[in-house]
Amino acid sequence: MSQKPAYRSWFRSIRDHQETYALDEIVYTARDGSLLEVVHDMDELRKTPAGDWKRIFRERAHSSEWPYGSGVWGKKEWVLPGIDNENVVSMYEGNTNLFWAERYGRELGLDELWIKQCGNSHTGSFKDLGMTVLVSMVKELIHRGKNVPAVACASTGDTSAALAAFAAAASIPAIVFLPRGKVSVAQLIQPVSNGAIVFALDTDFDGCMEIVKQVAEKDGIYLANSMNSLRIEGQKTVGIEIIEQFDWEVPDWLVIPGGNLGNVSALAKGLDMLLDLGLIDRRPRIVCAQAEAANPLYLSYQRGFEVFEPIAARPTIANAIQIGNPVSIEKAIDALKRYDGIVEQATETEIAESCARADRTGLFNCPHTGVALAAMEKLVKRGEIARRDRVVVLSTAHGLKFVDFKLQYHELRLAGVESKLANPPIELPARYESVRDEMLREIERRFGH
Ligand SMILES: *Cc1c(COP(=O)(O)O)cnc(C)c1O
Repeated sequence: MSQKPAYRSWFRSIRDHQETYALDEIVYTARDGSLLEVVHDMDELRKTPAGDWKRIFRERAHSSEWPYGSGVWGKKEWVLPGIDNENVVSMYEGNTNLFWAERYGRELGLDELWIKQCGNSHTGSFKDLGMTVLVSMVKELIHRGKNVPAVACASTGDTSAALAAFAAAASIPAIVFLPRGKVSVAQLIQPVSNGAIVFALDTDFDGCMEIVKQVAEKDGIYLANSMNSLRIEGQKTVGIEIIEQFDWEVPDWLVIPGGNLGNVSALAKGLDMLLDLGLIDRRPRIVCAQAEAANPLYLSYQRGFEVFEPIAARPTIANAIQIGNPVSIEKAIDALKRYDGIVEQATETEIAESCARADRTGLFNCPHTGVALAAMEKLVKRGEIARRDRVVVLSTAHGLKFVDFKLQYHELRLAGVESKLANPPIELPARYESVRDEMLREIERRFGH
């Protein structure tokens, strides 16, 4: 692309489409209180044929030409075309492994089960995909002379880790609000290490969200939650990337866990662009999986999405999705309607046992991925997902961020969970004979016929 086309994008209100704002305006919601979305000049993008986009994306993946080697920035024209490459804050996010879960799939009776490993990323969760876009825009704003004293987010752990890392790299002050005692040690230590100003508040995520909205409104702090639709632009690349990894063949099912519901909305938005620009010609179905303890979308789905009522989310081992009043609810319901969506839920036992079952086949799942795995297993059991279907589960974080819950599972300390696959270390004196006896017994027990 020698001559640079004038790709443009802007904010638009999601309900009436009547309000528009430039992307360098500091605005998060429309006048009616609904969210904004980023819209792209599709006519301009359409001037490049589908085959050319496929080639461009392929050539850029992993390339060393800044910043196009990133899975997000390799699609810059579709994501955030209007900023200077110098202001991109990237850690080469995206381009994560699409793992063929052959053994796990076989055990469930599926021919083709794949796990998109979004947690194999700089801060260990898919949140990097959105945060690279948001922090890059902030750097661009500062460059354009706007007054942005700091960026802030409320977080159940992973958003704050991503914000803290990208902001630190760009030398932008970051502030994070966490519910005290409700995030894992690994999640807490990330923003602490990256030098963010960390507040642990005596409330839940929804309570932290109320505070961050106030500092954004009253103190001009830039809001980094997924209410800010710039995040969605980065996160939407995951769906594009999955289909690219199948050489542009569309899988039958995409299964994703949902809390604040930005991710499921983003997944659908990426697919919309692929359809719109002719890179694919059919839709996969989307399954959004919720923890039973935090299931407002599931309850709405049960009533045909006719009504939605926020709930008080109860504690769950899937702490990043313990959200009762999801900010992206309207976008998510729209997305699920477009993609013949299903919402399924999982109990704490189902989450823990599915995680453990999949871990036994070489994975190392976070509990949120466990929610998606449990939902997928239920759909397979009910026959909604068929043996020959190609299924992709989006793994949203790395299991290493959530070892507390795994340890509890394997030490039979997870309240209310049976731990069917517990595998605690065998403690023995260091004597050859007793080690040998135990070893041979265990080999026979686990692999004998
Ligand atoms: C944020 C997060 C989710 C949920 O994404 P939403 O956009 O809030 O629905 C799921 N899993 C992990 C690991 C997360 O960090």
